[in-house]
Amino acid sequence: MKVFADSDNIKVDATTQMRESARYFASIGMRDLYPESQADADADEYENKVLNIMKEQIGRTQTGRALFTAIAATKPRTMLISPQSRLDTTSSDPDLKYRLELNAFTAGVNFATGGPITCGPVVANAVILFSPEMFEPESAQDAGQSARETLLHEMVHGLRHMTGKDSCQMLNNEFFSVEEFIAMLVTNIFASEIGRPLRGGYKGMFVKQGPYGRNVTQRLPDALQDPKEFLKYKNCADLVSRFVSEHPTFAGALMDIRVPFNPIEEWFFGRRN
Ligand SMILES: [Zn+2]
Repeated sequence: MKVFADSDNIKVDATTQMRESARYFASIGMRDLYPESQADADADEYENKVLNIMKEQIGRTQTGRALFTAIAATKPRTMLISPQSRLDTTSSDPDLKYRLELNAFTAGVNFATGGPITCGPVVANAVILFSPEMFEPESAQDAGQSARETLLHEMVHGLRHMTGKDSCQMLNNEFFSVEEFIAMLVTNIFASEIGRPLRGGYKGMFVKQGPYGRNVTQRLPDALQDPKEFLKYKNCADLVSRFVSEHPTFAGALMDIRVPFNPIEEWFFGRRN
């Protein structure tokens, strides 16, 4: 396990999982198939790769730094990032199965009981299951789906758990739920900062390509890429208001980012006029 130096309540761990694999093979008399030294080397590679995405890709943006500051402010709550491969994809819940197979996943962990909280306004530690190679190489077709965007998106879900703001509220539109709207909102500001296409909806279309397949997502329609128009669309202004009231400091930091798509800046600006 390694600690992210810039926000030391974020931890990255593949060692636990990979050593478990090594011990399993040892227990069935096949120690040489996956020796512990190899497990440690694999874990090191994963942990360094994820830390590098955080430091060199997310951490070099204003959106990323604002998010890390918001996560650091939730201490003593913690966020743990581990490889996705530990997931059970045999779930009989079709939506859960879909999410576990195709996407990274974030849940809260009740620190009193150790049990998972998949949604609900409970202050919790966050666990993110994320394997960067599933989102590589980056493609302009996959709005919001690069490794760096996926990790940032999941970290926003994690922040919501760590601050007890996570809701179970579904939206009857392309944004799917309040949580996905908020994760996509922040990720789109990040995407605007790094010059990636903006994501316009939650569900994508699975395409069999490469070892993991790809999730081809909707792009935000051109008309809605104007933050003014975005805030007039459906209940977007209410949802942005909700985000601002639930995360005033984080929203205040995001407001200052001068990028083409920043509905939070527009929301504050519109209220000043
Ligand atoms: Zn999400």
